[in-house]
Amino acid sequence: MDRISKTVTGGCQCGAVRYRATEMLDNSHLCHCRMCQKAVGNVFAALVAAPNPALTFTRGEPAIFRSSEHVERGFCERCGTPLFYRGNTGRTNLTIGSLDDPSDFPPIAEVGTEARVSWLKPLPDVEDGGQTESAGQEAWAAAIRVTNRQHPDHDTDEWPNG
Ligand SMILES: [Zn+2]
Ligand SMILES: [Zn+2]
Repeated sequence: MDRISKTVTGGCQCGAVRYRATEMLDNSHLCHCRMCQKAVGNVFAALVAAPNPALTFTRGEPAIFRSSEHVERGFCERCGTPLFYRGNTGRTNLTIGSLDDPSDFPPIAEVGTEARVSWLKPLPDVEDGGQTESAGQEAWAAAIRVTNRQHPDHDTDEWPNG
C-alpha cells in the first residue's frame, strides 16, 4: 500500500468532530460487507485510510462502537455521522463521505462483494478485491465472526445475547 503525501480534512455533519490527516494511503475502496452496510446505514461503505500517526482529531472526539473484538467504528455522538473503521493494522479507514472533498479518492477496489445488493452493478474498471471470506482472509473473517456484536437481520426478544 503506497503512501500519498497529501493533507486532508474532514468531519461529521454537525461539526462537533473534525479531523486532519497529513498523509494518506492509496487503498480507497468500497466495502459491501454486511457489517459495513449496518455501520454506515447504507448499502456500502466508501473508505480510504490514513496511517494512525498521521491522523489527529482537531475538534471533539469520536464515539466508538466495537463491532467485534477487533474492529472499532468511530462516529459522532451528537449527530451520528459514521467517521471511520479501524482494525489493528496501524491505519484508520475514514469514511470518504466525511472528507471535506469526497471526490479526492476514487475507489480502486470493491470488497465484501458477497453482500453487494442485487440492484447495484460493479463499478467499471475497478478491481474486485473479493469476498470477505476469500482466500487469505479466512483467519481474519473467523476472528470477527466469533466476537461479532452485530444484531442479526431479524427481530430478537432479547439483546444482547449472553
Ligand atoms: Zn456531529
Ligand atoms: Zn466491510
